[in-house]
Amino acid sequence: MATDILDVLRTKRDGKTLSDEQIRFFIEGYTAGTIADEQASALLMAIVFRGLSAGELATWTAAMIDSGDRADLSFLDRPTVDKHSTGGVGDKISLILVPLVVACGAAVPQLAGRGLGHTGGTLDKMESISGFRSMLTAERYREVLEEVGGVIAGASGDIAPADRKLYSLRDVTGTVESVPLIASSIMSKKIAEGTGGLVLDVKLGSGSFLGDDALTRTLAETMVGIGNDNGVRTVALLTDMDQPLGRAAGNALEVTESLEVLAGGGPADVRELTLVLAREMLAVAGLDVDPEPVLDDGRAMGVFERLVAAQGGDLSRPLPTAAHTHVVQADCSGQVQRMDCRAIGIAVWRLGAGRARKEDDVSYGAGALVEAKVGDRVEAGDPLLVLHADDEERFAGALAALDGAIDVGDGQPERRPLVAERVT
Ligand code: URA
Repeated sequence: MATDILDVLRTKRDGKTLSDEQIRFFIEGYTAGTIADEQASALLMAIVFRGLSAGELATWTAAMIDSGDRADLSFLDRPTVDKHSTGGVGDKISLILVPLVVACGAAVPQLAGRGLGHTGGTLDKMESISGFRSMLTAERYREVLEEVGGVIAGASGDIAPADRKLYSLRDVTGTVESVPLIASSIMSKKIAEGTGGLVLDVKLGSGSFLGDDALTRTLAETMVGIGNDNGVRTVALLTDMDQPLGRAAGNALEVTESLEVLAGGGPADVRELTLVLAREMLAVAGLDVDPEPVLDDGRAMGVFERLVAAQGGDLSRPLPTAAHTHVVQADCSGQVQRMDCRAIGIAVWRLGAGRARKEDDVSYGAGALVEAKVGDRVEAGDPLLVLHADDEERFAGALAALDGAIDVGDGQPERRPLVAERVT
């Protein structure tokens, strides 16, 4: 090996291009534990400032994929396709979309995550259903995928282990916010999962991950490039996260809302975004099926029930509810002009729906119901949000986060369309 860790660090620190050998040396060494956290932190910080060229990013992502297994899903008799969202508040779309796309004839091998910070996680939402198991053995994962056509599970240690280590380090070293590091992190896991097609739901607006529209667009373009270069047909939609999706934010509250949409009802924005993403996924999978009747006639609900049962869940048991509620009222009359979606996400998290550290428990019943959305007319004293918590003492922290988060005033506010752009 004609390189060493100091050679790698100096190259990136000085703004030069890392060779394929240097990148593989770093990813392999850090995964194996022969490169220390402080050395890895220094390289990550240098990448935050200096970036990665397209060639460096391709090798970096390939090395992350090669740090573990790339699943082979060729035993399935149908095309595979998945969706990844960069995360938002009230984003329960996967719960509806996975069974819907399965009911339309594709297989969906979804490896999902838990909530961390102000955005919720699909696994926490699913685990609010009594008995639901998201950590499956490799054997059970394949069985559920084959029997039901879809699965929603946590990734095993064999999927991009380099990312698992690097992401934990980035989380505590201020090195999450970097387009190449985010793009390679997300895409290495999705490519290793084995899906043949991928639709990315990349969020714009106050609740988005990066909080900057131009950077978010670059992230979408970068991820689409990585996917297609690795043989995964990838499309991205840039979608609105300037207010929570639907009315419910918080684990069990979101499951209830998802069941409403699967029953043919529910909020219009959740239904619309689900159908738009389903059409994209079916096109990527090469299936010419209209998902709308499949949502309306109960076929998607049937798949959801089978998926939940196959993963140990019991939908006949009541979902958890929080012990206490607190209503946030409008202090004047008018139209809702603006919502700080990130602030609402932080409030939901402080109510107990999210976790501060990976090992924390979440409160499944905690969260918020949005009673008035941007553009809705309210009178002074009308409810804007209903907060739900198991522990009444949590309301104060949530209310502090919500201070100044919702403006009510005169006139109709300008709004971005729910689906703002498509990146191919
Ligand atoms: N989600 C990921 O999986 N990785 C990142 O870097 C950011 C968000």
